[in-house]
Amino acid sequence: MHRFFIQPEQIQGHRVTLSGAIVHQICNVLRLRPGDHILVLDNSGWEWQVELTEVSRNRVEGHTLGKSLARGEPRTKITLYQGVLKGNRFEFALQKGTELGIVEFVPVVSSRCVIADVDAVSKKLARWRRIVLEAAEQAHRGLLPVIQPAMLFAAACERAGLSGGLSILPWEEAEASLKSLLREGDETAPSRPFSINLFIGPEGGFTAEEVNLAQRYKIHPVTLGPRILRAETAGLVAATAILYELGDLELSP
Ligand code: SAM
Repeated sequence: MHRFFIQPEQIQGHRVTLSGAIVHQICNVLRLRPGDHILVLDNSGWEWQVELTEVSRNRVEGHTLGKSLARGEPRTKITLYQGVLKGNRFEFALQKGTELGIVEFVPVVSSRCVIADVDAVSKKLARWRRIVLEAAEQAHRGLLPVIQPAMLFAAACERAGLSGGLSILPWEEAEASLKSLLREGDETAPSRPFSINLFIGPEGGFTAEEVNLAQRYKIHPVTLGPRILRAETAGLVAATAILYELGDLELSP
């Protein structure tokens, strides 16, 4: 069934009024008709089953038939602090990270970033939010991952340090294992469901100084093995390993 994120105020009682690009999508692209069913998501974690009652070029309306909790949200809440990447690599990380279950993205400008201008990065936010929205619909998420404005590496470390979650920084020169860290945990972090801050460097990686700074905020360097992964691959591999280890790649009973 087709799924659409909408604004909560578009659901009034049993009545659902759709607007903007969704109207065009339903009317002209999907050619749905009154009587057809769709799912709408109001970004609360619920999904609403809706029967369309009116479909025209300017107006699409329906009424709700019921609601259930979206099953696509992981218990483990991963915030991906991703070094800004050039070309469409950052967009790839956003799209695939959303499919995997990342709940928050923080674009990070660090010393080896090719794009080093925080303002230039923030101009891409609207496009990035569209990419995340489409990926979230496709992946059956119930909540839209949040994309924070870009921030400098030091500010990102401070933010993660204050968040209370377990913070992890894959680094090619680290020896500590991700699995051990997840199994032993961090005595300063709360117990499950885990909130995890995952730091991935840009194309050129992190400098030793940056790793030292991160450690002062209890951000743990770990290895992802002997192969050097591209930045957009590394975040997905680390997130997948974390979700697997914490049982989030299984269907809940
Ligand atoms: N500086 C590296 C080089 O040129 O060999 C490449 C950095 S890599 C493309 C980008 C990021 O991916 C790194 O900053 C790190 O966070 C992560 N990464 C990639 N492979 C890794 C590995 N084997 N272990 C830990 N982290 C890795």
